[in-house]
Amino acid sequence: MNIIDLLLTNPDARSRRAITPKGVVLHWVANPGSTARNNRDYFQNGVSAAKQNWASAHYVIDDRETVRCIPEMEMAYHVGATSYNQAALKQFATTYPNDCLIGIELCHADWTGTFGTGTWSQAVELVADILRRYKLPVSAIVRHYDITGKECPRVMVRDPAVFTAFKADVERLLNPPSAPPKQPKSPGPAPDVSGDHFAAEAVAWAYKHKISAGIDSQKNFAPDRPVTRAEMIVLLKRTFDLLQGGE
Ligand SMILES: [Zn+2]
Repeated sequence: MNIIDLLLTNPDARSRRAITPKGVVLHWVANPGSTARNNRDYFQNGVSAAKQNWASAHYVIDDRETVRCIPEMEMAYHVGATSYNQAALKQFATTYPNDCLIGIELCHADWTGTFGTGTWSQAVELVADILRRYKLPVSAIVRHYDITGKECPRVMVRDPAVFTAFKADVERLLNPPSAPPKQPKSPGPAPDVSGDHFAAEAVAWAYKHKISAGIDSQKNFAPDRPVTRAEMIVLLKRTFDLLQGGE
């Protein structure tokens, strides 16, 4: 994950109020073609108490990079409204959701609000990381829409399946599906030589004809251990005797 720290220094965009994050809010920037840095620069230069247009978010993500504007444990102004969805207030046990939610703004190319693959994958990775660090469930990921009813992020409101897919991708990153169990090895001629070992057939032949009896009482063959000169000549003699015996 490539996070660029460009913390805002505009005092009107910084609350300096400490929060304990309980969830993550996804937004679209609603400005097609703008980059993460463009949106960060708007928070930095376009927001003022005089204009009363307070706006900020903790992160802005485009297809190339993730820009951090506000430290996670400081309140940002991204879901303030005159009224809130009661279920959301209940979910996060608050009356002012900015005081406990991390805001992530996502860039997009056009007015459908569809996110590029780079934006999507960085957002999935960042959100999974946040959930892991604060020990939050996937249900702590919400849309701006879930808090205030605003059509944000547009593509996840018009097509809720997109939001579901996002949460599923986060879930997969947090709990990767376990690898399929390995095929048990087929039994071989010795405890340490499985049936699919390249020497299995030869070891079976050596045991059958008493060229070798293995190296211990369990009949281990020690397939990777070097042979001494004494062992080699014994093996040769036994093979020679076997051939002489005409078996
Ligand atoms: Zn929003």
